[in-house]
Parts: sequence; C-alpha cells; structure tokens
Amino acid sequence: MPTATKPIYSGKAKDIFETDDSDVLRAYFRDSATAFNAQKKGEIHGKGKVNATISALLFTLVEKNGIKTHFIKQISDNELLVKRVQIIPLEVIVRNIAAGSLCKRLGIKEGKVLKTPIVEFSYKNDELGDPLLTRAYIKNALEIADDKTLDYITEVTLKANEIFKDFFLKNEIKVVDFKLEYGTDKDGNLLLADELSPDNFRFWDAKTNEKLDKDRFRQDLGNVEGAYQEILKRVKSGIQDSAKPQHTSTQAHQHTSTSAHKHFNIKVQVLPKKDILDPQGQAVEKALISLGYKDVRDLKIGKEIVFKVSADSELKAKSQVKEMCEKLLANPVIEDYLIEIK
Ligand code: 5GP
Repeated sequence: MPTATKPIYSGKAKDIFETDDSDVLRAYFRDSATAFNAQKKGEIHGKGKVNATISALLFTLVEKNGIKTHFIKQISDNELLVKRVQIIPLEVIVRNIAAGSLCKRLGIKEGKVLKTPIVEFSYKNDELGDPLLTRAYIKNALEIADDKTLDYITEVTLKANEIFKDFFLKNEIKVVDFKLEYGTDKDGNLLLADELSPDNFRFWDAKTNEKLDKDRFRQDLGNVEGAYQEILKRVKSGIQDSAKPQHTSTQAHQHTSTSAHKHFNIKVQVLPKKDILDPQGQAVEKALISLGYKDVRDLKIGKEIVFKVSADSELKAKSQVKEMCEKLLANPVIEDYLIEIK
C-alpha cells in the first residue's frame, strides 16, 4: 500500500503516517529513547524493530483473548498498520509491584508486591509532566471521559494485566507495571492503542529480578539493547509454546509409556487466591444477592481442567500434574489449584 512520507504525528519514539485508506495509519517505530519527560534523550540500537515486533505479538495475544485493539498487522521490521483512533489523553497505568513514581510518591520500597493490582490515570500532557488524575478531574475538570468509559477501560486494563502476567510468568518474567492508551475509532469503538513494549512496561526477570526494560536506560544500568532483545526472545518463545498443543509433557510421557503404566483420570480445579481480585466472581455474587440469596459470600469463579495421564504410580502422576499446574495450567502467583486423581 503506497503511503505518505510526512508524518501526521511524531511522538517520542514513533512516527505516524497516513495511508491510502483514511481509516488506516502506519506507525514507524524509531530507535530514539526519552525519559523523565524527554529531559534525557538517547538511542537504543535496534529498539524500533524490537518494539514493533513485541507490540505486534502482544496485540495479537490480547486480541486472541477478546480485547479489541487498533492493531492490524506488522508490515516491516519497524512498521505496524493500525486503525485510526482518536486517542483519549489518559495514561492508564497498572501496577502489580511497587516501582517508579509510586515509590517516590508514597515512600514505599521498590519490589513490594501490591495487595491487588492498582489502576491509576495520568493526564497525557508533556508540558504538565503527565500529572496523576482523580476521576473527578477526568470527568468534571478535563471532561475527557465519563464513568462508563472509565469503568470499561479499568475492566479491560485489568483483564489485559491478567493475560500479560500469566503469559510472562510462564516465560520467567514478572510484569511489574505498564502504561496503556486507549482511543475511539470512527464507529465509536474503544480500542487498546499505542504500543506494548519494554518502553511502556516494567519487566523483571522472575528468578533474579534483573530489570529488562526502559529502566536500564532511565537509570544508566547498561546493556539496554540486550534487555530489549531478551524480552523479544522470551515473547517469541512464549508465543511458539502457546501455539503448541497443550499438555505436551503428558503426551511425551504417554509415547514412552509401557503396558506397566496405569492410566489416571485427572481433574484440576483452579481458583483465584483469597485476596486476588475476581471481578467475575464479584459480579455473580452481587447478582445472586440481588436475586434474594442474601447469605452468599466469597464467591470465586475458576476453571476445571480434565485429562488423562499414564504413569507407573499415582504418586508419579500427581507430581507430573503438579508440575503442569506450576508451569502452565495455573498461575501460582494469583491462583490456587486442587488436583484430583482417580
Ligand atoms: P511510573 O509512573 O512508575 O513512572 O511508570 C509506570 C509505568 O508506566 C512504567 O512501566 C512506565 O514505563 C510506564 N509509563 C509511565 N509514563 C509513561 C510515558 O510517558 N511513556 C511511556 N512509554 N511509558 C510510561
């Protein structure tokens, strides 16, 4: 598709161009990096290509899980085609672990695991230094979003957070926090927009807590390119793993099973942990109470997974299934699981 050569918008790390289709834009990801409201500037070699590719993979991941985004496709190393949207000037930030401005603002130690994920809004305005907003500021002073829009954004953002935490944990990365932007398309649909990359996420290695994101640039920690490449590598391998048929270790085990092996029917129940936010559970609990079942409490919604494995003892089957739960079937940070074997 022939496209314009002059950007209609040039941000800190991306240029946005029109295309022949007035509803479609081309986003070119540059290597330039800024921090502290553009007071610190630099280049991260290869960042444009890495961020465009990670964004394309992560937008595809959330789309598969039912979140509507502006992403259409990646058309070159550094370029994505995206739907034209009117960006709501809000930085929607989710935090799982204390870091960055939260620590500065509240004097909390970096690394504190927050009781539940926190969603906050900042005004996307460089001149003002992206100030933190209250709902009243957004609705009644700036008038840029109403309650319904903010509720929807919060719900989608928390859902995206669960998808990302789950995906990255399987690839040994903690999602510390991230910033999202939303926009409306010509039909009024609210879409997740902007980018999904180590520029707007904090990622820590799950084992070592090594920082694998723009904090390496912000804090002069060195090997910034290496960290971005590492995230790309793990995202690519995570996407490949999730495309493989599930329970591969069970299948591999079955291939080598002999007639001495017994077959076990497995049932795994996965439920959100006690203190983990379960919006679906809360909604059903509320609905039951409003139907007159006033004594309903602590309702949680989870999932049940059933399958068969073969092993030479129940103990071995159980330990294999436990491993599957830790690696894939559950997210041990936020979910409990119960294994039943028959
Ligand atoms: P903090 O408020 O702690 O500085 O940032 C929280 C999270 O949002 C971090 O993951 C950070 O990368 C992201 N974030 C906050 N402001 C911006 C911004 O202006 N641009 C980008 N790309 N990310 C941001």
